[in-house]
Amino acid sequence: MKKNFLLTDEGNKGAIVKKRILQYLIISGESSIADISKEIEMSVPTVTKLVSELIEEGFILDSGKQNTSGGRKPNIYGINPVSGYFVGVDVHRKLVMLAVIDLNGKIIDENLHIPYELQNTPEALEELCRIINVYIDNLPIEKAKIFQVAINLTGRVSTSSGYSHSYFCFDEQPLSQIIESKIGIPVMLENDSRAMAYGEYMCGVVKGEKNVIFINVNWGLGSGLILDGKLYYGKSGYSGEFGHISAFDNEIICGCGKKGCLETEASGFAMQRILMERYAQGSTTILADTLKEKGGVSLSDFVDAVLKEDVLAIEIVEHIGLNLGRWLAGMINIFNPELVVIGGPLSLTHDYIRLPIKSSMKKFSLNLVNQDTDLVISKLGDKAGLIGACLLSRSKMLDIL
Ligand SMILES: [Zn+2]
Repeated sequence: MKKNFLLTDEGNKGAIVKKRILQYLIISGESSIADISKEIEMSVPTVTKLVSELIEEGFILDSGKQNTSGGRKPNIYGINPVSGYFVGVDVHRKLVMLAVIDLNGKIIDENLHIPYELQNTPEALEELCRIINVYIDNLPIEKAKIFQVAINLTGRVSTSSGYSHSYFCFDEQPLSQIIESKIGIPVMLENDSRAMAYGEYMCGVVKGEKNVIFINVNWGLGSGLILDGKLYYGKSGYSGEFGHISAFDNEIICGCGKKGCLETEASGFAMQRILMERYAQGSTTILADTLKEKGGVSLSDFVDAVLKEDVLAIEIVEHIGLNLGRWLAGMINIFNPELVVIGGPLSLTHDYIRLPIKSSMKKFSLNLVNQDTDLVISKLGDKAGLIGACLLSRSKMLDIL
């Protein structure tokens, strides 16, 4: 197995230029030496030499003469998709999703329903590593060709330091290093909402917009920001904690430990609490049997009830939407985005959540500013985070971000 410069030659000038060549070929498709050299502003002899190295290392394929009419026909070069792979792991509260993409970004395998209980315990971390190892061992590709595994976690995650502060935070070593030692492949951590934002940005509902706010309406409430075409991290990588804006003067304790957060009135947790309260007060709902049997509902139970036009469920999703819209209005005033994308499980209620958000967003934001902003529902649905993780892993390694 040849040395992989992506993993070993960090900071080396030749390696930096080779990454730029790979970036260009990924974004633009097959190209000639002249095209590459013009785009990355390097001389033709330098590019020719580095392209030969990349061919030798297996990253690039020589596709032969370009099919053009007249003149000299240059050779064109493209990415060799099977030269490297990136695994994405999307950790949810009750399941784990995994997928792998090739160097061209094509999904070559996915498993969307591995049962899992997310808890902040060493046993839950062991189980997660076991699931990842079993998945990788069963892939029809060489393990050495998997360049990186990107893992999405909910809560405070620092991609740059590799620490997670909400889950698996019981060791002094960065979590990314701990998992790396257990699976034998470099690991990067990412916040789940930010990975979802990236998935939508790269191949979902975003069509060239450069300023995008993505909202993840899950059990909790998170967001991912894309500003000027770049995923926004903030100093330590904790940006986007939309759910923990102190929005209400209530006495409801939030998952973060504080009270009155936006998440206490606009999230899956809020839905569950309000549903139980209203049911206890005598409201009727088609979810009554599930509430009686299980003492609660899943997010998909709730979405189904909304789509079946259960009036109580619709009232609750409207309540969530109106609260979200009010605080999104503030985000719009500050960021003047082109697009707000509503994602996460509760976005599957479509217009039942979108319309109250839209109405409240318009009511509370400045008219001149909100005219620029479209409000749409996620296209990738529950796969946004998984696809985002795979693509982020590749982008980080090629310095595309
Ligand atoms: Zn909170």
